[in-house]
Amino acid sequence: CRAPLPGARRGAMVKETIRVYARVKPLGRRQQAGSYSVDDEEDPLSSLEITVPRDLADGFVNNKRENYKFKFQKIFDQEAKQDVVFDSIAKPVAECVLAGYNGTIFAYGQTGSGKTFTITGGAERYSDRGIIPRTLSYIFDQLQKDSSKVYTTHVSYLEIYNECGYDLLDPRHEASRLEDLPKVTIMEDSDQNIHLKNLSLQQATNEEEALNLLFLGDTNRMIAETPMNQASSRSHCIFTIHISSKEPGSATIRRSKLHLVDLAGSERVAKTGVGGHLLTEAKYINLSLHYLEQVIIALAEKNRSHIPYRNSMMTSVLRDSLGGNCMTAMIATLSIDKRNIDESISTCRFAQRVALIKNEAVLNEEIDPRLMIVQLKKEIQDLKDELELVTGKQRTSELSQEELLQLDELIETFLKDNDPDSTLDVGGDMRKIKYCFIHMKQLVNHPTTSDKKLLSQDISEEEHINKESREELEKLKHLLQQRDNEINILVNMLKKEKKKAKDALFQLNATSACSTLLEQSLSINLEDRQSPSSCFSLKDAKDFSSSAHRLSFLSRQTGGKMSLGCQEAFEVFKRDHADSITIEDNKQLLKQRFAEVKCLGEKLNEVRSKINHLKGEITQRHIQRAALAVSSPSEELNMFDPVEEKLRMQIEEEKKSYKTMFNRFKGLKVEIEHLQLLMEKVKMKIQKDFEVWWSEEAKNLQQEKPKMVTSPNTAYPQFIKSLQHLSANSFSETTRVSPNEDPDRKNNSITFNNSTLKTRTPPSSSTSIPLTGDSQADADILAFIEARQRILQKKGK
Ligand code: ADP
Ligand code: MG
Repeated sequence: CRAPLPGARRGAMVKETIRVYARVKPLGRRQQAGSYSVDDEEDPLSSLEITVPRDLADGFVNNKRENYKFKFQKIFDQEAKQDVVFDSIAKPVAECVLAGYNGTIFAYGQTGSGKTFTITGGAERYSDRGIIPRTLSYIFDQLQKDSSKVYTTHVSYLEIYNECGYDLLDPRHEASRLEDLPKVTIMEDSDQNIHLKNLSLQQATNEEEALNLLFLGDTNRMIAETPMNQASSRSHCIFTIHISSKEPGSATIRRSKLHLVDLAGSERVAKTGVGGHLLTEAKYINLSLHYLEQVIIALAEKNRSHIPYRNSMMTSVLRDSLGGNCMTAMIATLSIDKRNIDESISTCRFAQRVALIKNEAVLNEEIDPRLMIVQLKKEIQDLKDELELVTGKQRTSELSQEELLQLDELIETFLKDNDPDSTLDVGGDMRKIKYCFIHMKQLVNHPTTSDKKLLSQDISEEEHINKESREELEKLKHLLQQRDNEINILVNMLKKEKKKAKDALFQLNATSACSTLLEQSLSINLEDRQSPSSCFSLKDAKDFSSSAHRLSFLSRQTGGKMSLGCQEAFEVFKRDHADSITIEDNKQLLKQRFAEVKCLGEKLNEVRSKINHLKGEITQRHIQRAALAVSSPSEELNMFDPVEEKLRMQIEEEKKSYKTMFNRFKGLKVEIEHLQLLMEKVKMKIQKDFEVWWSEEAKNLQQEKPKMVTSPNTAYPQFIKSLQHLSANSFSETTRVSPNEDPDRKNNSITFNNSTLKTRTPPSSSTSIPLTGDSQADADILAFIEARQRILQKKGK
């Protein structure tokens, strides 16, 4: 691990270049592989060689070369799995973040090259979880293991689209458009630190909470997309994990951030001009990626003083990650089929530049002022104790009667002495000094006759000096009072602590004498593990499935507005949607997991009662032996009891198996939750796809209708065409439409047979056009079916 050991010296700094990795996406079935080779043997870097095919080479950006070689930290070829990618790229960065350094992992590549798959993960399988969920799992696991510190974790999720930032995690918002989400703006403080205004930091105390937040953000991101703004390919998403840690009693707080970044698609437009002319100069679609490249170029150049971070929001947010206080890794995602060779080369070129950039990661530590005070107070107390030890005098806040009398005398002599150089010397004892001041105050406020004379003399002589010193006096008195209070508080605290320590010691002695200590600790252990409920049941397992209540924000119900026809169409659409297989698969898997959890729960209960039973036996044994000891005292009874020892060993065994099962139980719980969230997401996607399909169909029909009305005869061919287009011949013959019977057309039901929509593939991108009026769309569909019936009738004749 490149992370310095936790507990590294304050201000420790690590200088390192950004680590750059490549990942090649598996080829699609119909894609033709571009020619490339990976060489892992070269040390320490791997190299990727891309060969431009001859038929492309002569028109290509750089038409002289055919072979390009790029170096990477490591290259993940097509078959590389998510866990391997996580282990090599993200784990070391996560370790640094746990140690108090900032970290960033960003994916760069053209749309469809696997950025989202790598950073967030695929929506189908649990094993396809990407870097974010795996990192969360890893981090929370580590935090749980480390009891030496107190940790706090928060997450935030920012989307940047068109130079505007949006908070994807605002729980109050149920956004249907990106613009509905709270807008995030950048602020720079006097130290040029970037602050994001309006970006919510949500606390996540465990993996489950953090995952829920991730899914909330992803869902908001999906919903906010429309065909007009293909936000997912043109926006940047930054998921950030914020960790702060503190050792108990220490005043030092460590804070670190881990940015996990899914950048916009890096494709360039205008690769080929009209008429087959290849353009040499490629242009960026995405302006902020252009600025990112400028920042990278500036950073890679030596002696550049100005780095243009401020040109775009994204470069401002990632400022620390690039050439700053951060451990950064980049993943270049490549889709190396033949058509994308040039994009792949440009991605690799970008990566090579990034690899030149050096970052200086600093341990982020700061002092908590409150804790500092506590520490100082403790130091004062220690010093006092030391003083007491050295002087041999116990210091209380009280002075003895004798000392007080002595002081009174001294003060009197001092006041009566007319020598301007005379001083009042009571030594370094604060209590005495304080007493003198108090005494003086009394004299000033209630002077006796003789003193009055004395004082008035003084006043007339040195009025202004006196005034000054009085102010001084007030100040000092105030200060003294404060110190006094402080000391009193500290003394009380110390007394309490001492008492506590004594009590604890006493208890320890008492319990160690008691032979049931072992048993106690066993029962505590068990209770700890099972809190809060003491018994596992199927109900608990089912509770995992109630993630739905947390996901109420996900269930955007268009259903409430849907007409019957629309609902039926939706049912069929759902059935035929490609993703429904995923849902079915996951359902099966969930069923399995539930069964496993149930079974495990029962087993856990069994083991638990077995342990309880064994414990009961031990107690029984104790009672028996105690009774025996009273009736016939003998040496033997006070000694080792082999039966009890055996029982204890049995308990140990059971505890072991309990622990193993419990860990498996926890693992299953996480998996079940993940699967449920995945399903929820796929369901939402289908619904969105349906909305788009439905409103598109409605639009098409509206365009067809006027033609039919004006010239019914000529409209037929067109209609047949449109029917074919829709493969409407798969409408079932049971379709019943009788608008005359039901003028409102509300109760008409349209039934589709199984194959209705099969040939019509739903739009592949998840897009959303809100349904404007369902009744209108329904009417259109009905008109369409009427027309179809007429055609059928005509055909029949
Ligand atoms: P990007 O975010 O770069 O636009 P995606 O991550 O959405 O690309 O990937 C496009 C498609 O390719 C998705 O359907 C995704 O599941 C699939 N995909 C990407 N990388 C892999 C991979 N390594 N293994 C399997 N499928 C992948
Ligand atoms: Mg993507």
